[in-house]
This record gives sequence, structure tokens and C-alpha cells, in this order.
Amino acid sequence: MPVVPMQQILKHAFDNRYGVGAFNIVDWVTMDAVLYAAAETKSPVIVQVSVKTVKVMGARLIRVMFEEMAGRVPVPATLHLDHCPDRKVIEECVAAGWNSVLFDASKLTYEDNMAQTKEVVQFAHQHGVAVEGELEAVKGVEDGIGDEYGGAVVALDKAVAFIRETGIDSFAPAIGTAHGLYKGKPKINYQRVSEIMEAAPVPLVVHGGTGLSEETFHELIRRGTPKINISTQLKITLADSYRTYLEEHPTEYDPLKLLGAVKKKLVAQVESFMRIFGSEGHAA
Ligand SMILES: [Zn+2]
Repeated sequence: MPVVPMQQILKHAFDNRYGVGAFNIVDWVTMDAVLYAAAETKSPVIVQVSVKTVKVMGARLIRVMFEEMAGRVPVPATLHLDHCPDRKVIEECVAAGWNSVLFDASKLTYEDNMAQTKEVVQFAHQHGVAVEGELEAVKGVEDGIGDEYGGAVVALDKAVAFIRETGIDSFAPAIGTAHGLYKGKPKINYQRVSEIMEAAPVPLVVHGGTGLSEETFHELIRRGTPKINISTQLKITLADSYRTYLEEHPTEYDPLKLLGAVKKKLVAQVESFMRIFGSEGHAA
């Protein structure tokens, strides 16, 4: 299927209250595995890429590879740039034909974030590119927040004004989730999701999806978070599957067999998330 706009995937999932995984890829094998899992489960999918990976591979190569690989699977797929504070990188990705970007200006003051996000939205929308906005930095568990209440730091009315005035297509709120691995049970601020839904119903994004329970995913999706980011778990599966294969096959030197074994593990992992999120069978 040809690549589809992020807005189309978000709207269908938001209206029908299911979640779409945004899976961070780092190379050909991971991109192939994510798209293959989507085809197997007939699920729409978001292929997500970090700025670090863009710096290694280049925005154009990733886009060309994505277009070719997404074209081979019969499901809607879209290409998204994860946390990007650098407007030059955003411009590169937009110029290369990406579908969506997260402009992460959460380190700026509220006023500067608002002003710059407005500009990025205006620029991106001229090219049909969606923008995810972020006000409060999503914590990493290493910041000591992941197993505690990582609640909102910006007053609700300011968050709502940010969503409305910038014109962002989706919003990543601070709701107690964190990047990395949780040390304890995260305390999720479900109320914040419902409050934002009531005041400014825009699709919300869950960062730090790795390690959340099925119940947590279901409750968040029900309240209004159609985009769910999964990165850490894929990194773990990727590294572990290379390690296991090489340990179990010390005299095997066929790289395609190694990569095939790695892909198989990644596919199983991604498919299980798609089933939990309820995106299975939604590829139209
Ligand atoms: Zn994130």
C-alpha cells in the first residue's frame, strides 16, 4: 500500500479507540520486521525514527527505504521523526517527504515553545506533514521519575491553550510514563488524559510504552491516546536475539540466516504489541 499521512492513521484510531504502535527502527532489518508484523496482523503502523538514527542513515535514505518497503505491504504505514529539538533536522525530513515530526521544544520556556511550535506547524502543514507537540519533557527512568508520580507540570489551561493555538496534530502530555525501563510500577495520571480530552480533544501520544501493563494501555487508549511509542523493548529484543543466535550457532557465518533469526524475534515482539493495542485487523 502507498504510504499514508499520519493524520489519517491517527484519526481512524482516535475515532475508533484503538492504539497504533509507533515502533522505533534503527536499520533495514528493524524496519522490515515492523512492516512485516503489521502485514501479518493487518494493522496500521507508524514507523518511528530517532534523530540519532537520522544522523547515521540520512533522512533521504530512510524515506526512500520506507517508501519501497511500505509499498510491499497491504497496510497503511506512515513515517515519523521522534523527539527533535533541531528545526534543521525537521526541515530535512520534511524536504525528504516524511509524514510526521515531533518538534520537541520542551526544554524551552512555555512562550518560546508556543511560538516556535506554531512556526513548525505552519511550515510542516504546507507540506502535508503532521506535527506532534510536547510541553513537558517526558522523563527517563534514570531521572528518578519513572517509578513515581510523574504528573503534569504545566497547568491544564496552559496545555489546552498550547494545543489550540499551535494547531498541532497530536500532543505528548506528561502522564507519569518515562523512557527506558521502569524500576517500579509507574503511577499513571489517567485524569490528565481525560481532562485534556474534555477541553481540547486532540489525539494524545504515550511515550515510554515499554513496561506498561495491558490494563494501562487499554485504559489510556479508551481515554484518548491512539499513538503509543515503543522503543526500549525493541532495542532489547534486537540485541538479545543477535546474542542468542550467535551463542547458539558459533560456526554459522551466513549473515542472512542471522538477520532472518533476528527479524523473526522482532516480528513476534511487534505483533504482540499490535494485538494488545487493538490495531489488529484495522488495516483498511
Ligand atoms: Zn519519547
